[in-house]
Amino acid sequence: MRFNIAQLLKDHTGETRQYTLHEEIEGLDPDIVPLSALDGMIHLIRTTDGVFVTGKLHCSLELACARCLEPFALPLRFTLEEEFHSTLDILTGVFLPRTEEFEPATQIDEHHEIDLSEVIRQNILLALPLHAICRSQCAGLCPQCGKNWNDGACDCKRDAIDPRFEKLKALLDK
Ligand SMILES: [Zn+2]
Ligand SMILES: [Zn+2]
Repeated sequence: MRFNIAQLLKDHTGETRQYTLHEEIEGLDPDIVPLSALDGMIHLIRTTDGVFVTGKLHCSLELACARCLEPFALPLRFTLEEEFHSTLDILTGVFLPRTEEFEPATQIDEHHEIDLSEVIRQNILLALPLHAICRSQCAGLCPQCGKNWNDGACDCKRDAIDPRFEKLKALLDK
């Protein structure tokens, strides 16, 4: 997910570029299981010491349902908002001093390229729901036999009254 922004860096502050993003994101992160490519639009705005990147992106991911544990497809939309800072001056080629908030993921490298992979990885992980469920009506698993109640009821409820208690109940009823 690399973009060469040398031309934009030679432009005035406030100049913009727009790109269509279509990226396979397999291997981006062990916790991200993509079912589709990542798609969307990326806008770059020239700032005084770099570029501000915004984007509206979407993809489809496979998650395990927190209730029934079955895999399901989650459509995910998220926005990017990150400022990338120059490593060196585009006109003089001189390396710039590192600022206090130096962050490798948002550096413009010495070839005037930005790599969106890390900020996209972080934004996807932030956008993931903590307790994703496959559908709002998901019935979950039987805590006794583990049967997926979405596939129908199990026999556990019938056995919910322990036979030993039935004998006790019979004694108490006497
Ligand atoms: Zn479920
Ligand atoms: Zn059961």
